[in-house]
Amino acid sequence: MPAKGWIEVNEMHCKGCELCVTACPQGVLELDMSRLTPKGYHPTHIYKDGCTGCAICALVCPDAAITVYREVVKRTAPAVA
Ligand code: SF4
Ligand code: SF4
Repeated sequence: MPAKGWIEVNEMHCKGCELCVTACPQGVLELDMSRLTPKGYHPTHIYKDGCTGCAICALVCPDAAITVYREVVKRTAPAVA
């Protein structure tokens, strides 16, 4: 099962350049055309399921506007018979 991830976008820094949208291998990012940042740009956001927390979007963002989180699944050891 692929890892589950999500992102937070610092809207004081995002300038809507779409580099992260293009780079996301899962195709889950788009600019939110219904909203504007305080600086007047459409911010990026996740618009569908599928983020794996790979952090490529954060690496390509020239303004370090993205923080990536990844869900960690802790496996318990199987019971010994
Ligand atoms: S790469 Fe950074 S600045 Fe550009 S749209 Fe994505 S979050 Fe915003
Ligand atoms: S962490 Fe990876 S999968 Fe998730 S939005 Fe960023 S580039 Fe896409």
